[in-house]
Amino acid sequence: MRDLIIVGAGPSGLTAALYALRSGNKVTLIEQGAPGGQLLKTEKIDNYPGFANGILGMELATNMFQQISSYSNLELETQTVISIKKETDKVVVATGNGNAIEGHSLVLAMGGNPRLLDIPGEVEYTGKGVSYCAICDGFFFKDKITTVIGGGDTAFEDALYLAKISKEVHLIHRRDTFRASKILTEQLKNHNNIQLHLNYTPKAILGDTKVEKIEIESTSGESNKTIETNGVFVAIGQKMNTDFLNNQIPLNKDGRIIVNHKMATEIQGIFACGDIIAKSLYQVSTAVGDGAVAGQEAVYYIENK
Ligand code: NAP
Repeated sequence: MRDLIIVGAGPSGLTAALYALRSGNKVTLIEQGAPGGQLLKTEKIDNYPGFANGILGMELATNMFQQISSYSNLELETQTVISIKKETDKVVVATGNGNAIEGHSLVLAMGGNPRLLDIPGEVEYTGKGVSYCAICDGFFFKDKITTVIGGGDTAFEDALYLAKISKEVHLIHRRDTFRASKILTEQLKNHNNIQLHLNYTPKAILGDTKVEKIEIESTSGESNKTIETNGVFVAIGQKMNTDFLNNQIPLNKDGRIIVNHKMATEIQGIFACGDIIAKSLYQVSTAVGDGAVAGQEAVYYIENK
């Protein structure tokens, strides 16, 4: 039996692990991909305190993971979680390889997956021009034309990143105001190779063997447009990765886990942190902050059992 099981090795899960490991707990950290979460999809983070000149997402992820990897009381499982079950005095976490890992306490930090546009051509051209990660795939579009969908921080960061690689970037957003921060909005508007298409929503992605065009539909009564493009980067938010919870833990209307100020869910011994929880600010700094609280509160819970 482990002391603490953590699902998800993004910044919040890695921080929760750090706090529990430093208290001498036996921790199993389950992650289906590489440790780092959304950090791996971010080129540079300019608003993480302590790094006046910013820090690369990959570098911060590597540093965070290195900080916990030397603890002998850590077990890392590269697996997908398929279910959890709370029993009287333990939590059982089932993984895709048929294992059932038992722990005194559980921290949920699995974040989300990119939300899909759900339009013709999206699935067909995924990997053939349609991508959900500019940092991962941007290089394939060197000196080509790329198109980003969305009006949030992710879409703006993606457009700014692609503007350094592609010869031309189109940004399509369904409104004329943005969720993206003011600072990113200013940077984007000042870029001469980024063209904005506001009040438009994607209708279909077209091509032959690869993406060639995107059709966009006006949301303000203007005529529809077709844009020639080699790549379409979808950045319209995330769908939370909560299916395996099977309605055992209350979620808010956006599908995020409801926690109290101790990051505790309604189920005793189960905590949550990072993008998966309902909160007001989604940043690396807040993920790290609530990861620390979740990890430490799990430690208190284990000690008091
Ligand atoms: P987001 O803030 O939820 O923005 C999603 C964008 O996609 C919105 O502009 C939304 O339009 C648009 N959208 C949603 N569904 C759509 C659809 N079906 N068709 C067309 N457009 C659609 O998501 P995000 O940008 O991934 O950011 C998630 C969170 O992480 C945010 O809290 C953000 O601040 C944070 N974040 C922060 C940083 C940073 O600080 N550097 C970087 C990345 C992310 P509407 O606006 O019309 O709804």
